[in-house]
Amino acid sequence: MSALKGKVAIITGGNSGIGKATARLFVQEGANVIITGRRQDVLDAAVKEIGTGASGFCGDVADVEFHSRLAEDVRSRFGAVDIYMANAGIINLTDSDKVSPQEYDQHFAVNSRGVFFGVQAIAPLINDGGNIIVTSSLAATKVLPQHTLYAGSKAAIAAFARNWAIEFKQRRIRVNILSPGPVETEILGKLGISEADRPALDEHMANTIPTGRYGRPEELAQAALLLASNDFVNGVELHVDGGMSLV
Ligand code: NAP
Repeated sequence: MSALKGKVAIITGGNSGIGKATARLFVQEGANVIITGRRQDVLDAAVKEIGTGASGFCGDVADVEFHSRLAEDVRSRFGAVDIYMANAGIINLTDSDKVSPQEYDQHFAVNSRGVFFGVQAIAPLINDGGNIIVTSSLAATKVLPQHTLYAGSKAAIAAFARNWAIEFKQRRIRVNILSPGPVETEILGKLGISEADRPALDEHMANTIPTGRYGRPEELAQAALLLASNDFVNGVELHVDGGMSLV
């Protein structure tokens, strides 16, 4: 398997969940992959688990300076990049009347500003013909309870991505949006839902998602590989949600 032979990819939020599964698949397909995350120990463990071809760079995507440090590190080690996947994200489910300004700023700092300034810093390093993937969410286009703040922060990056697809066309850099539905990752433990309420959430999801289950990170990784490797896929929003956008 060598769909990405000789390519260099950066995946933010690559130490966990969808990002880690994608990093593993990209390495299996021949890429060198730089994964990021804030937790150094989790990052080190992920690099070790994925093995040769993976390396880590620790930091917070909400910190604009982080992106220039990452760009410099990647430039010095690899010279250039072929694939940039802006995937790091957070969610805390809350009704709008309970959202604090701090919570608002945190969601937009990580989910939106982190993507914008990540692309600003890394785009100059992307080879002509390379590509960018942003991980948005089904929530950006479908109304879901208590998702308003998160939905707004994810809708912003889908809009950025469509504009970038045109801004970068002279360099033949494709830009696509990966929009997962509910996927079984650590993020489900960070929704602000108590352990006691989790079985009810799982049952609700099994009854709501047409495929009858959560997605698996590996299924999202396969979709990311399609976006990263098919040279005629540009400006699309790929929903990988078990059909949940239909219900
Ligand atoms: P996950 O397992 O919790 O992974 C989230 C990743 O983002 C982790 O690697 C985390 O690493 C990183 N991250 C969070 N805040 C960060 C920050 N400030 N700076 C740097 N890295 C940060 O969740 P996941 O499900 O794989 O999520 C991946 C993406 O998919 C997210 O953008 C999420 O919104 C989106 N998504 C997920 C689902 C789902 O149901 N799972 C559905 C729709 C969209 P550290 O904690 O070490 O920083």
